[in-house]
Amino acid sequence: MASIRQQRIAEQIHEEISALLMRGLKDPRIGFVTITGVKVTPDLSRAWVYFSTTGGEAVAEQSLEGLNSAASYVRKVLGKLLHLKHIPEFVFKYDTSLDRGDRIERILSDVREQEGWDDPARIRGSADEVAQALRKHQRFLVTGHLNPDGDAVASVLGLGRILESLDKEVVLYNPDPVPHNYAFLPGADQIKSTPGDEPFDATVVVDCSELSRTGPLPAEAMRGELIGIDHHLTTKPLGTVHYQNPGASSIGEMLYEIMGQLGLKMDFELAQCIYTSILSDTGSFRYSNTSPAAMRVAADALALGVSPWDVALEVYESQPLARVRLLAKVLPTLEVDASGRYGSILVTQEMFTETGATKDLIDGFINHPRGIQGVEVAIQFREENERLYKVSFRSRGRINVAQIADKFGGGGHANAAGCSVTGNLEEAKLQIFSAVEEALQA
Ligand code: 5GP
Ligand code: MN
Repeated sequence: MASIRQQRIAEQIHEEISALLMRGLKDPRIGFVTITGVKVTPDLSRAWVYFSTTGGEAVAEQSLEGLNSAASYVRKVLGKLLHLKHIPEFVFKYDTSLDRGDRIERILSDVREQEGWDDPARIRGSADEVAQALRKHQRFLVTGHLNPDGDAVASVLGLGRILESLDKEVVLYNPDPVPHNYAFLPGADQIKSTPGDEPFDATVVVDCSELSRTGPLPAEAMRGELIGIDHHLTTKPLGTVHYQNPGASSIGEMLYEIMGQLGLKMDFELAQCIYTSILSDTGSFRYSNTSPAAMRVAADALALGVSPWDVALEVYESQPLARVRLLAKVLPTLEVDASGRYGSILVTQEMFTETGATKDLIDGFINHPRGIQGVEVAIQFREENERLYKVSFRSRGRINVAQIADKFGGGGHANAAGCSVTGNLEEAKLQIFSAVEEALQA
């Protein structure tokens, strides 16, 4: 929103330029011009002056040239009339429509662009706003996304502990089971597969940029205030109260910040959850989201007694045999395109049946195509049924795969994203490969 001062200055400029035009500017190119709106930048360095003319586009273009060449004269005159320390630079713009709604829309979109409102990497809301909402309510539902990963499990458990330490009543919920390698986390057996029938004062959704990624939630009247804590790239954070920070490595790191706002310190169990959340989402402190802040929080967890090897033993070194047998079937499906810049693997229902593995066991398979020298984008197709494929993307860094996934109604992070596509395998591959090729060529 423009400040009151910005608005006032814009109005003054509007009035004075209109008056100047009434008196007549010398330039013959300037036709019958009406100023339709003025917008001033927050630092008052620049003003967009929208105008309309009679006589169609050709006249408008000539007028625009005339106005722009008169701009410094207009600025000098206004400098004397308006008692301002600094007069903005004027940029005249032809207002193609007299339709007010359309004009306002355009002015708003200029402001949004200039202020970075549509930048999906922007922080929205704050740890403090969420902390206040957590204090305010009593009975909470806490949930993460379906097919939970380490971050989704560990941060739901971590938030549960935080709320319990504030003497709140908490139900932890996810219809999908906890993956075997995160079952060691304290409280993992407390996650319910349904939210129950009792109403909640608030529902906290973590690690989801869209509500469609969670399991079925209670009806709106039953779920209370919706609170979102997320770190995906998005312009539309979820919840009436939210903290959306795409710069955070993981929800665990964000919880640590929220705890700071609440004046709470981690205990050993909470440190296990927060450490595991960061470990999982940074790919064991390898990905580009491994920031100094993430390392500091992890260091704090170690200081409280968390053992990196004990956690690694659970998370990485306790693979069920079925997972390795499944991997043995998946790797022969590897395809790399002729240019060597993208590669894909396929996981079918039949492979699950043959090996007895479940879908939560394929986490990390996609790192095999991504790890190939020269491959910039790795793709994994997982068959849901004959006409539905779950697609995962990983990028080596140059290509933003969240943008590719977004084209198919999915999303995620710049380097890890996903979506679903309908069609048989060939159709799914065709759609996905051409989108990836387009991204690689851009
Ligand atoms: P994965 O490939 O491990 O399932 O997901 C990688 C990333 O992409 C995760 O951060 C996840 O949140 C996001 N993601 C995966 N599938 C979808 C999807 O269908 N929709 C959206 N919006 N994000 C997804
Ligand atoms: Mn996450």
